[in-house]
Amino acid sequence: MLDIIQIPVLKDNYIYLLHDSASDETAVVDPAEANPVLRILAEKNWTLNYIFNTHHHWDHVGGNLLLKERTGCGVIASSYDQNRIPGIDQAVSEGDMLRLGDEVIEVINTPGHTLGHIVYFCRQQHALFCGDTLFSLGCGRLFEGTPEQMWHSLQKIRALPDETKIYCAHEYTENNARFALSVDPDNIALKRYNETIHRLRAQNKSTIPTTLAQEKACNPFLRPESAAIRQILNMPENKNVDVFARLRQMKDHF
Ligand code: ZN
Ligand code: FE
Repeated sequence: MLDIIQIPVLKDNYIYLLHDSASDETAVVDPAEANPVLRILAEKNWTLNYIFNTHHHWDHVGGNLLLKERTGCGVIASSYDQNRIPGIDQAVSEGDMLRLGDEVIEVINTPGHTLGHIVYFCRQQHALFCGDTLFSLGCGRLFEGTPEQMWHSLQKIRALPDETKIYCAHEYTENNARFALSVDPDNIALKRYNETIHRLRAQNKSTIPTTLAQEKACNPFLRPESAAIRQILNMPENKNVDVFARLRQMKDHF
């Protein structure tokens, strides 16, 4: 079993520290900054073995070089991003299996937000570290990929087990909920989740991790089949990818 520590940094980023107690191995996912990670490593008396990056944006790799210098850890990232991930040691892609102690972590390619974006799935623990591909009630902006690529990536995530915990890299949920309600106002599961979100945020608590089951019920970007959403968009017969693309475009201007 992995211990998973969520570290809030910057304005709304989350770094995840993973520790396997049997082997005493430690990894960090998307260290935007080094110092908050170094602080917790010292507190716990853990040694950092690996950095796992989901993509090359500065708010996901900003701590790479200092962490590497201080701990000697290895940097694992997408083969597509070999020339734009600071300190990369091991290039990985779809189907590669990483190990942290006894835990196996699968790499899944999810182009869309960026072309090299990957996510890390720990099947034994039902934990997905998905960077800026899927957010609670949202998904990443399409900076590099096409709607077709992103929709394909999201379908791969949607096919994982319902109980999968979604450890995304940003606390965007409250904002995302406003958009989700605007395109799916009668969704009872969404309305109920929205109340939970407001309660948590009012106490300055994290809404993450969410679960895949909850996102499949509430996140419009995983629900282009929904008749209610299609009616509001006036796209009754369109393909899922076109409904997805329209939702993404509307969210960009929301
Ligand atoms: Zn990003
Ligand atoms: Fe980000």
